[in-house]
Amino acid sequence: MSYFRATDPFPLESPEHTKLHEFYSRLATGRLATTRCAECKRLAWPPRAFCGECGSDRFDWVDLSGEGTIHAFTIQEVGLPPGFEGPRVFAIVKIDGLRVFSILVDAEPAKVAIGQPVRVSPLRIADDPNGNARWLPAFRPA
Ligand SMILES: [Zn+2]
Repeated sequence: MSYFRATDPFPLESPEHTKLHEFYSRLATGRLATTRCAECKRLAWPPRAFCGECGSDRFDWVDLSGEGTIHAFTIQEVGLPPGFEGPRVFAIVKIDGLRVFSILVDAEPAKVAIGQPVRVSPLRIADDPNGNARWLPAFRPA
């Protein structure tokens, strides 16, 4: 299990591994997207290939607004693996009615606050074993 597993809903991002690869294609261009059920129109988080409400497997991709607010956060100061600089801020961000567990980048921990506006800022992490770029959802102070 990698360090980022908790914030990485689909660690295998390529089309061969997941039909949700569109999520990462959009993330690589700076857009945070999710799925909306084509039947009951429910917005899912994380993106899902079938609807937890009505069971449909038909879905559409929608880009979220990109702007959210911090609902809750925690600061990790110790226990970071070698190569990671601390402290690192994790936050639950409210965005378009969803609550997204994410990393907050470029934030001074002492200045992070509930209700603070943040903006989508995808974080590039280590490539997959095939050399494909990988991205995680992340936010930065707006
Ligand atoms: Zn549905």
